[in-house]
Amino acid sequence: MNPTYDAVVIGAGIVGAACAYELAREGMRVVIVERDIVGGGATAAGMGHIVVMDDSPAQLALTQYSQSLWNSLSPALPSSIEYDCCGTLWIAADEAEMIEVRRKHALYASANVPTQVLDSHALAEAEPNLRKPLAGALLVPSDAVLYPPCAASFLITSAQQQGADLMLGKTILSAEHGKVQLNDGTSISSAYLVHATGAGATSLLPDLPIKKRKGHLVITDRYPGFVRHQLVELGYLKSAHSVISDSVAFNVQPRRTGQLLIGSSRQYGAEDSAIDHSILESMLKRTCEYLPGIANLSTIRAWTGFRAATPDKLPLIGPTDDPTVFLATGHEGLGITTSLATARLLADSILKRTSAIPIDPYLPARFALETAHA
Ligand SMILES: Cc1cc2nc3c(=O)[nH]c(=O)nc-3n(C[C@H](O)[C@H](O)[C@H](O)COP(=O)(O)OP(=O)(O)OC[C@H]3O[C@@H](n4cnc5c(N)ncnc54)[C@H](O)[C@@H]3O)c2cc1C
Repeated sequence: MNPTYDAVVIGAGIVGAACAYELAREGMRVVIVERDIVGGGATAAGMGHIVVMDDSPAQLALTQYSQSLWNSLSPALPSSIEYDCCGTLWIAADEAEMIEVRRKHALYASANVPTQVLDSHALAEAEPNLRKPLAGALLVPSDAVLYPPCAASFLITSAQQQGADLMLGKTILSAEHGKVQLNDGTSISSAYLVHATGAGATSLLPDLPIKKRKGHLVITDRYPGFVRHQLVELGYLKSAHSVISDSVAFNVQPRRTGQLLIGSSRQYGAEDSAIDHSILESMLKRTCEYLPGIANLSTIRAWTGFRAATPDKLPLIGPTDDPTVFLATGHEGLGITTSLATARLLADSILKRTSAIPIDPYLPARFALETAHA
């Protein structure tokens, strides 16, 4: 009997949405199955910074590629997605951090990412509400921000316009050997099964090397123009790299609504989604150290989300030892940025095409995986 679908995409976060969009564009018969709502998982909790990051050459390649795909798609994005090319300012507090600014400047130049080094004066002009003095910053003008849940909805709707089906409120209990079993007792057969389940991936595939990494965010009332760029302290990189301790870093994003999104924290081993008030307090304290005036603004909501972290900080994209099972998960703090490139690499892998960037660093086979559980 022929399978009902060419691909079942499990999870309608930004990664699953992008995969469904890409596979449907390729003319495949696609169904997206989501236990909750579109874009409701980590995608709803994320900041929406579309950022080139250089933790490793593979991370740089993936983020840069994906950013170029977002840029190409941006004219088609509805205004609800709030796509804004506001640029990032990587802020150096002192001369020691200016060394990192210059290192990043040279590295980005070698990868053809335009950047600009700002001295203390130029930084104060660019962002008058930052504390003074600060040593300077690296401006990355091509970085952008968007509103992730609406971006996921847009990609799902676009996939549906290409003929994809969407099943909401259904949990997949198993997905292997070309068959998914749903919690309502039905099953679907499909040539390919794409696990885009984010931090929930290990409930279906317990051997995946994925750990939850909790994050907190806060949003303010509307203060248009208070900041103009995504502002990130260079110390953010240290905090993002720490794998043992809880950490916070100054990371503020201007929203098109005039609101400010304040981040960010990272915690391993936290399973509970409740707000941790000590983390929140140190996050806001850090923010006030860089933007003293923010202490006078009203915050309206705080929330948490779970990133899906892998040991080498790269996602798992591509085939597994079950020839029907493909992975698109483990994107940690970069899944909004890298969703479109993930979907392209995944489609290339399924269709056995050469990709625009080498897929090897992201292949699940770099870890010893046992995906089939009979
Ligand atoms: C505080 C915070 C800030 C962040 N900031 C940024 C940022 O600025 N830029 C950036 O690029 N990234 C950021 N991220 C990371 C980004 O949010 C994630 O990498 C991204 O949203 C992951 O998308 P996803 O589709 O893989 O997972 P999710 O959005 O979690 O989607 C997975 C979906 O799968 C569904 N699912 C799981 N299991 C099943 C099942 N068995 N059956 C059916 N459905 C299932 C879930 O319900 C969920 O909807 C941030 C994350 C956090 C927490």
